[in-house]
Amino acid sequence: MAENLLEVRNISVTFKTRYGILKALDNLSLNVKKGEILGLVGESGAGKSMTGAAILGLIDAPGQLSSGEIFYKDECISDAPEAVRGHEISMIFQDPLMSLNPLRKIGDQLVETILTHMNISKSEAIKKAKNGLKEVGIDPSRLNSYPHTFSGGMRQRVVIALALAPEPSLIIADEPTTALDVSVQAQILDLLKKLCKERGTSIILVTHDMGVIAETTDRVGVLYAGRLAEIGNTREVLTDPKHPYTRGLVESTPRIDSNSFKKSLFQIPGSMPKLDAMPSGCAFHPRCAFASDICTKKIPPILHKRAACWLLENGEL
Ligand code: SF4
Repeated sequence: MAENLLEVRNISVTFKTRYGILKALDNLSLNVKKGEILGLVGESGAGKSMTGAAILGLIDAPGQLSSGEIFYKDECISDAPEAVRGHEISMIFQDPLMSLNPLRKIGDQLVETILTHMNISKSEAIKKAKNGLKEVGIDPSRLNSYPHTFSGGMRQRVVIALALAPEPSLIIADEPTTALDVSVQAQILDLLKKLCKERGTSIILVTHDMGVIAETTDRVGVLYAGRLAEIGNTREVLTDPKHPYTRGLVESTPRIDSNSFKKSLFQIPGSMPKLDAMPSGCAFHPRCAFASDICTKKIPPILHKRAACWLLENGEL
């Protein structure tokens, strides 16, 4: 089994507000192996992006990492994430314009990123920037172009080149294709997957889209209300989901190989709870058809290394 590149151990992210302490992440643990693509999926407010922000130390005040530890290559980085941010772990955002300065040529931005993170000469950095563009399918002569002269898909290609330029071991990609047309989405995901597999780079892919999870990831973590609901090999989780929330997500995803497109899709009743109205026990219990007394009182741990659901304890799943 590949060794762990990243280990997130029991982290909680809290926000001190006038209504009290609100928990955006609650005792979350996961790991990323070298070279693997781990998907994080769930509805809005599940804690997917917050997990990426916590790893990179990008939690906006008044939020804070209030407990737990994050290890990268066996070193604890919880207190100094900036030591790895950018060169060891880089980030791709949903909107390419968040990563690109509209007032500067993309070549200058690429070269600056390379020089910030690598100890090489400017001429070597320019060569590397040209190669980076070529790898993502953009003519190196476009180094002198400004971001606005590219289409959305091409801009996201530039952002991938920017993220890969410092040769990171891990990329956190937060909904990297959500803002793009479906056909372009597939191209960008294929490109990211290919380049990372070639280099042995791991990816944490944050998405709300089960189709993207199925197509792209090796393992998947399903998040609900800031907690891990289920984690495992993507194929196993999608073909035999254990947690009722995962089942709901799978059943509400249209499949081309079934008759699901002919009938109405399953809907999970209700919605994700707000941070200031978190249900007791299993946070999913108000929406769960299988909820029992214990579910309203005790938070289930991850059982059998797979899902946080009391049904698993009784062998009912
Ligand atoms: Fe449903 Fe209970 Fe399992 Fe939560 S612990 S998912 S409420 S059965």
